[in-house]
Amino acid sequence: MATNLEGKKKSASGLNGTPKKPPVLVDGVLLDQPLNDPEAGERFVQDAFQIILEEAIRKGTDINEKVCDWKEPDELRALLDLDLIDDAESHEKLLERCQAVIRYSVKTIHPRFYNQQFAGLDHHSLVGRYITETLNTTQVTYEVAPVFVLMEEVVLQKLCELIGWRNCDGLFSPGGSMSNMYAMHVARYKLFPEIKRQGLWTIPQLAIFASEESHYSVCKGAAFLGLGTDSVHAVKADERGRMIPKDLEEQISITKTKGVVPFLVNATSGTTVFGAFDPLPEIADVCERHGIWLHVDAAWGGSALLSRKHRHLLTGIERADSVAWNLHKMMQAGLQCSAFLIKDDTGLLEKCFSAGASYLFQTDKFYDLRYDIGDKSLQCGRKVDCLKLWLMWKAVGTRGLENRVDRAVACARYLVEKMKKRAGFRLMMEPQWVNTCFWYVPPSLRGQEESPNFWKNLGRVASFIKEQMVKRGSMMVSYQPHGTDVNFFRHVLISPQVSLEDLDFFMDEIEYLGSKFQPQ
Ligand SMILES: *Cc1c(COP(=O)(O)O)cnc(C)c1O
Repeated sequence: MATNLEGKKKSASGLNGTPKKPPVLVDGVLLDQPLNDPEAGERFVQDAFQIILEEAIRKGTDINEKVCDWKEPDELRALLDLDLIDDAESHEKLLERCQAVIRYSVKTIHPRFYNQQFAGLDHHSLVGRYITETLNTTQVTYEVAPVFVLMEEVVLQKLCELIGWRNCDGLFSPGGSMSNMYAMHVARYKLFPEIKRQGLWTIPQLAIFASEESHYSVCKGAAFLGLGTDSVHAVKADERGRMIPKDLEEQISITKTKGVVPFLVNATSGTTVFGAFDPLPEIADVCERHGIWLHVDAAWGGSALLSRKHRHLLTGIERADSVAWNLHKMMQAGLQCSAFLIKDDTGLLEKCFSAGASYLFQTDKFYDLRYDIGDKSLQCGRKVDCLKLWLMWKAVGTRGLENRVDRAVACARYLVEKMKKRAGFRLMMEPQWVNTCFWYVPPSLRGQEESPNFWKNLGRVASFIKEQMVKRGSMMVSYQPHGTDVNFFRHVLISPQVSLEDLDFFMDEIEYLGSKFQPQ
């Protein structure tokens, strides 16, 4: 069979001295040659890789280079010459374009990028991503992704072990928001399996409970699933952003008296803004008493499970029914790498999602159909997200991943302690995780804490400083208002490349940029 195929290939491409055939014209199209030039393509890959290495990786992580090269949209549009035209461009021109794309993009791998919940660069994970992109397959059947079907199973199993589960199932989804929505969908199906065929028409009104600090994807998911955002009940959080179990229980009881069925509690391990960890044992007790699915959104804080020092933050997570865990955040596996995991060995995921497409999931295949995992997913084509995590894990070991968590928390602690000693830095709370939330009170506002305009002015400081830092390209950090609190900064520490000098620079730069602030 193999020889046969090889023979066919050779004659088709006219290699190895096979006599040239007359030109073949079909529909006026000459079909003798492939349309692209593989040699030129390979040269382009090679040259582009060199540019990626120099411009994106080397400069992108160099503190003497800018984090971003800010341009107004019109200026940037003109610089990039984005219009798509009829003619092909040259090798050199295309390489220049690659260079420009990199140049004007934000360097999220830069040690002074603290703007998002991902940062830094893991080189092995990057290579995992290159390979994934090159092989370009879908995580749907064993026949099209044999390596990755086996690999995903091992990686997910390992994550489940860290949670403390023995029987589990799961998949990588395109992000934490999706993982949270998966949880809602599966929990609802478990309670009302008829929903798969009959839709919402036959089931009672449902309610979800999540703390006021939970991620907005819970509301988005509820809207998307036809439940409506009103069905998400905001449970009160304490002064450090942790869900108050007593309020949860009260709200559940009230809801029940109205004939509404509470079906899911979304607890958060590592809230997005404050990095707070909800008290899982108490929440699990409430869920158990009321027979409610407990989903833990550990998109942000899940990686603490890798640290023997910090995994206590998630004590009780083993009692969850499902967990969302983004490995592209603290673990730097690269966007996106979000595990959706459920404690189940009854094939619930499969039952909930399967549609049994006959063109993919033939029932008379020549191998064990257990490995055709694609029908567990909402998607058809599903990106391979396990390799980048697996390769990185192999490269540094579980201990290496643990070190990253411990180092990030220790660096955040360093920043917090320094801020306590520096004039003008006002912490909002003692952080539980690597989010440092603070106001900066510039010299022009100090001593005016009692004046009626103080908070209004303080609220303008963050955007004032942010604009200047972006235009200078010196660093990036996000800010937000929150409830009744005016704008404050949220520094997020992830990257193992961040040094203490970078953190000192961060505070110096805030001071420098804030020194020019004029109150109104
Ligand atoms: C980041 C985050 C999410 C959303 O994850 P995406 O991958 O960005 O969709 C959900 N929950 C929490 C707590 C998060 O921090």
